[in-house]
Amino acid sequence: MPIYEFECEKCGRKFEKLVFGSDDKKPQCPDCSSTEVHKMISAGSRVALKVPGGYGGNATAPSCAPGG
Ligand SMILES: [Zn+2]
Repeated sequence: MPIYEFECEKCGRKFEKLVFGSDDKKPQCPDCSSTEVHKMISAGSRVALKVPGGYGGNATAPSCAPGG
């Protein structure tokens, strides 16, 4: 289940939210109903999360340089 953890920047409350496919819309804080939230990095989970294409987190990749 695609559950992500968010943290409210207003009150600092942490809450989980189910995200279907894309996370275009930002969730609302269940405490202050603020949309000033940011997604948290899943810390603790030991399972390898794999994103089904699209928005990933790979910044650097060891790829062979073409030509030379
Ligand atoms: Zn809040």
